[in-house]
Amino acid sequence: MKKVAVVGCGTYMESGYGCPGEWRCLKAAALGEGTFDEPSTVVSFVTCECPGRAVVPNLGMAAKLSEMKPDKIYFSTCLTKGQPACPYFTPEELAKIVQDKTGVQVTLGTHDYH
Ligand code: SF4
Repeated sequence: MKKVAVVGCGTYMESGYGCPGEWRCLKAAALGEGTFDEPSTVVSFVTCECPGRAVVPNLGMAAKLSEMKPDKIYFSTCLTKGQPACPYFTPEELAKIVQDKTGVQVTLGTHDYH
């Protein structure tokens, strides 16, 4: 079973837009639905905070403290498709930064649930 880390958009999650990160990403990972090609274990869930500088260090700290480096990193659907869009970067730009810094592949989006 793959070990995965999920990164959610904190602004979206905290603003009452419909998902505070309570189940959608976790269900998709558990069942291998959405963008997960197999049931996967979520070993960390990192919440991005504007303007996004802490994502890479927080992913690194989660991997260090848990002693589990994820096989893949998933950007949540809210981070990838939520509207209004992030004013600081596109999901592709942040994914490149995270991939370059961590060496772990990033998948954009987690689920298609409503
Ligand atoms: S920087 Fe962008 S992705 Fe991160 S919390 Fe703010 S709006 Fe969301």
